[in-house]
Amino acid sequence: MVIILKKGASSVQVESLKALLQAKNITPRVTEGQHETIIGCVGDITHLDPGLIEALDGVESVQRIQEPYKAANRKFHPADSVVDCSGVKVGGGNFAVIAGPCSVESEEQLVGIARSVKAAGATMLRGGAFKPRTSPYAFQGMGAEGLRLLSLAKKETGLPIVTELMDFKDIELFNDVDVIQIGARNMQNFNLLKEVGSYTKKPVLLKRGMSATLQELLMSAEYIMASGNPNVILCERGIRTFETALRNTLDLGVVTMLHRLSHLPVVVDPSHATGHAYMVDSVSVAATAIGADGLIIEVHNDPPHAKCDGAQSQTPEMFAQTMARVQKVREVLA
Ligand code: PEP
Ligand code: MN
Repeated sequence: MVIILKKGASSVQVESLKALLQAKNITPRVTEGQHETIIGCVGDITHLDPGLIEALDGVESVQRIQEPYKAANRKFHPADSVVDCSGVKVGGGNFAVIAGPCSVESEEQLVGIARSVKAAGATMLRGGAFKPRTSPYAFQGMGAEGLRLLSLAKKETGLPIVTELMDFKDIELFNDVDVIQIGARNMQNFNLLKEVGSYTKKPVLLKRGMSATLQELLMSAEYIMASGNPNVILCERGIRTFETALRNTLDLGVVTMLHRLSHLPVVVDPSHATGHAYMVDSVSVAATAIGADGLIIEVHNDPPHAKCDGAQSQTPEMFAQTMARVQKVREVLA
């Protein structure tokens, strides 16, 4: 961080600023230029609020040189992180495909879908037991019974399970869950992030909030990591823009940018990003081509009757075709 001083800053103001920095274990390096004086801050500035420094008398402006996230930052961890999801690796060249229904509805539905996505090449099973719905009158998920069915489907297929935790009070029901999903609506539920990070080292699939910047997404990952859990997988699932034709606007370029900023794996969710089943195939191919570390795709055996997100759910047949095309792209890129 560099502090630029006002032209008329008094020596008393400069000295008190230096003392404040030193009290926070930061070494101030003062450089007096022809036109302005700057103070370079050497040391750990993570606890320093740039806004507070900027508000001090004698300070013109403050420029951050280093990002506010450390654990998630590629600068401090140059190699790609590989997150191990009960044997299924994600990141560093390992590509994962998480597929399954938006919500768990019945044993027949879930186990049937799990078998078909596995046959098509999915490496993990998704399915919501606790659903964050916009309407309180919409299906809220099966809760504990949904988790029991996910365990059953895992036993039947061997696929690790990915499911959303909305409230930390339910964590004890998640013992058999392999990857904990934190949904877009909870990306900035900082208490939940801290609780998950300190309670477990199980992989966390962190979905980008619908109006979150990349820095906010990475700061949320930082919350989990700083609490003790390094196993975070980032998920781009589209953001809210002026466009209403698609459910969300897929910000596909962030895959490349996140890979530059962070060592964490990045998966793309073409289902929530588009909201239309017919688009999931081409968007999956594009996400693979741009270098995503995996995909999370909603698949339903009977989309018109799905209790949640039927319009964006692929049938098992569509999913099998998408898997074949994604595989071809991977071979071309290899
Ligand atoms: C989901 O995965 O079904 C879901 C609710 O996702 P998001 O949090 O991205 O909206
Ligand atoms: Mn959904």
